[in-house]
Amino acid sequence: MTNTFVTRFAPSPTGYLHRGHAFSALTAWEAARAAPDPLGGRFLLRIEDIDRTRCRPEFEAALVEDLAWLGVSWETPVRRQSDHLEDYAGALRELAERGLLYRCFKTRKEIAETIQSAPHGAMEAYRGEPLPPAEEARRIEAGEPYAWRLSLDHAERTLGGFDTLSFVEEGEGPNGEHGVIAARPQIGGDVVLARKDVGVAYHLAVVFDDALQGITHVVRGQDLFEAAHVQRLLQALLGLPTPIYRHHRLLTGPDGKRFAKRDRSETLRDLREQGKTAAQIRTELGF
Ligand code: GLU
Repeated sequence: MTNTFVTRFAPSPTGYLHRGHAFSALTAWEAARAAPDPLGGRFLLRIEDIDRTRCRPEFEAALVEDLAWLGVSWETPVRRQSDHLEDYAGALRELAERGLLYRCFKTRKEIAETIQSAPHGAMEAYRGEPLPPAEEARRIEAGEPYAWRLSLDHAERTLGGFDTLSFVEEGEGPNGEHGVIAARPQIGGDVVLARKDVGVAYHLAVVFDDALQGITHVVRGQDLFEAAHVQRLLQALLGLPTPIYRHHRLLTGPDGKRFAKRDRSETLRDLREQGKTAAQIRTELGF
């Protein structure tokens, strides 16, 4: 018998945790405790630190301390993505060998220009194509940096269309989406799955780990609802199971804006220093 409810909280150690993170972690943790799983729902913590340019070990230590202070508990060992870069590289190679990826040499600025000059004028997700082989070889030879992008065109041909792709949303997307959702991976365009400075990008590491760790329910903020559309496609391409999604509302501050790591105020450490107890914060957040 296996667990019917396994969820995770997957922060990136790029700053101190704030109220929004606390809300997300507690939502997932409570969901595991409340799950009607005969074996007991499981809650995992995963450190998403593949972007070495932004993540710092002191933020990882701090988030572990803050979560424990908040009263959340998780299983050990904790999976740290930077310890498993070879796994993600393997998945990336598989996709590349199947022709699903292409090298993109465009800079951020060039991408932005391409998107803006699209015929319908509106901002849209980037879609491109591989360079002619001779030019590509020349630019690789010249040591030009490139990213690996997923080719939506190729993915669509491989799967015979995206019509059969769907996922179950038990929470709510930003526009009230709920129930069986038809996946529209086009939302993300040809997403970057690897960059030169960061061997693998977020979407690939997430779907790989969710499957490896047997995650049955992804509980996370609505800011990642669109990501589910892209991740559903990657699951299909890699033959991985699709978890159930429960996107939750985003917490906003008194100014109506959502909490972000860039807001220095209201981190859990600040609140603790101001004399707040974990019990007070849990109550304020509705737990
Ligand atoms: N690491 C992501 C973040 O901190 C969350 C990934 C996820 O929950 O799927 O925003």
